[in-house]
Amino acid sequence: MGCGKVFLVGAGPGDPDLLTVRAVELLNKADAVIYDRLVSKKILRLVPQKTEKIYVGKEPGKHELSQEEINELIIDMALKGKMVVRLKGGDPFLFGRGGEEAEILMSHDIDFEVVPGITSALAAPAYAGIPLTHRDYSSSIAIVTGHRATNKEGTIKWDKLANSVDTIVILMGVGQLESIVESLIRGGLSLDTRVAIIERGTLADQRTLISRLGTIVNEAKERKVTPPAVIVIGEVVKFGGKLHWFKVPICSKEERLP
Ligand code: SAH
Repeated sequence: MGCGKVFLVGAGPGDPDLLTVRAVELLNKADAVIYDRLVSKKILRLVPQKTEKIYVGKEPGKHELSQEEINELIIDMALKGKMVVRLKGGDPFLFGRGGEEAEILMSHDIDFEVVPGITSALAAPAYAGIPLTHRDYSSSIAIVTGHRATNKEGTIKWDKLANSVDTIVILMGVGQLESIVESLIRGGLSLDTRVAIIERGTLADQRTLISRLGTIVNEAKERKVTPPAVIVIGEVVKFGGKLHWFKVPICSKEERLP
């Protein structure tokens, strides 16, 4: 086997400032970068021009590469001796199919490294001013996918979730918002429970909708909330929009001196 290696790299939620040092190094050295839809344009601009860039995400009206086709592509390039960066939005192991790709690489005896990324589940609320835990309001969080909300055999027990954690963070939930909200209310959450939806978190056009369980569905429709978005449910949402710790300008050394 040649020197082919695969790096499963987290690109973070979008703001390039949130890339890890390792991710930047690998993006500069790779022969090829295979990336998904949620990797932001600003991050792709950091990849040198000569590097092969392969988009494997879904585009409206176009054929989406199946996971098998993506696996084949990655394996094929690695076996040809290339240094491949498989770049994924957020963290590769949080709803990013990183686990599946790692398994395939292992079964083909291909060397690989996993580079964690900052997940949107944590960064989007942070940029919206919402601390997911707080000593007075929340000592537990669950991060769940909303994708399977309408699937009866889905693995998420919304009623149990409603009763067991202080803060619920939902990814891939916008399309299923109505049924998620219904299930949580049925599970015991009050109509007054606070909810925030953060769209395009950490990007320049980030938008936050703050509401309550009883009204969020209509408001989300009115405001035309669209994915990608993170939904946060719980008391900590009360901080949303009030704390301004998002990109505070750094003063020059001179300004800081007494
Ligand atoms: N691995 C990714 C999640 C992939 S699942 C991560 O760790 O962030 C895709 C879902 O992630 C989207 O439907 C959305 O819920 C969320 N997401 C990803 N990027 C986002 C962003 N910039 N703002 C808000 N939500 C985002």
